[in-house]
Amino acid sequence: MHKRRFNEFTLTFALRPQGPLLIKSGQESGADPTLLDMNFVRTDHAQLGKTVFLPGSSLKGTMRSYAEKIARTLAAEYENQLPPLSCNPLTRSDKPGDQYNCGYAAEQKKLEGGAKVHKHACPICRTFGNTTLAAHLRLADAYPQNPLLTEDADLFHQTNHTSPRDGVAIDRISGSVAHGPFTLEVVTQGAFYTSFTLHNFQLWQLGLLAIVLRDIGQGRVPMGFAKSRGLGRMEIEYLAAEISYPARFSSQEGAFDFAANVYDVSQFMNVKAGNNPYDYFPVEEAIGMPAGGELVEDGSYGRIATRLAGEQIDQLWRAAVPYWADFVQNWPQEATHAS
Ligand SMILES: [Zn+2]
Repeated sequence: MHKRRFNEFTLTFALRPQGPLLIKSGQESGADPTLLDMNFVRTDHAQLGKTVFLPGSSLKGTMRSYAEKIARTLAAEYENQLPPLSCNPLTRSDKPGDQYNCGYAAEQKKLEGGAKVHKHACPICRTFGNTTLAAHLRLADAYPQNPLLTEDADLFHQTNHTSPRDGVAIDRISGSVAHGPFTLEVVTQGAFYTSFTLHNFQLWQLGLLAIVLRDIGQGRVPMGFAKSRGLGRMEIEYLAAEISYPARFSSQEGAFDFAANVYDVSQFMNVKAGNNPYDYFPVEEAIGMPAGGELVEDGSYGRIATRLAGEQIDQLWRAAVPYWADFVQNWPQEATHAS
């Protein structure tokens, strides 16, 4: 990938369980009588001590598989798309169609260099990464502590309490009751706070993430254990978003106005037919910065950054979704996929 970072988008948000949630720790009771049959994953946190948390990898997995699902619904003809709008990372195949795996295909073709691997990767791998391509999206672990509040008093009230719940484990293969009942340790209240950063992003990626997070936040994409039995529904609250341009000392540079616009990475690359090694989707116009955004870094320290809150974040999401729609319509880019 590029050594240089052209743009970055950071979103800080809270996930609130709407009913019971269980992200399994893999630690069963065994010989320890203080543990339930299935326990919520815990970690040692510097301020919170031993606490339940939501691993970033777990949330990223949920986001990725839902993004794949969206892409598969939109991709009309898999056979004509190479790579497809979403590959299938669970297979080991490089044959065109719905079994195509970008990471495996790149290994088979012995593709070298970030640009070539990126060019031959599906939009989902371009966002979430694969075995040969680093992810543009980095997601932090989610803790029951609001990073925007620092008072100790808040920490206590933010701490998520777990409760035991009786459940019947379902055998994954046959669907029959394996054994049980089990006692599950679930979180039913409170919130998990986290953030992700997307760097060198295209505007269509913001649009795709907007849809993914909207649907997760409406409880349509459950997480964790026993999803099909109604566990794991979440609500999302956006706390803050930041659009930043690293290594810029002034908000005005040539035709760029970093305080006024959200630029697609392709706009820094002079992308045109015959000169598009990463196969970026060309974007003519930037998204105007939502009104009321606060310029928090003006270049004095070599970075321009604007912070958005509340309705401004929704405004950015709504502006980004049409870029995803446009991108889907034009996938794959014939001109650049010829080679
Ligand atoms: Zn892929």
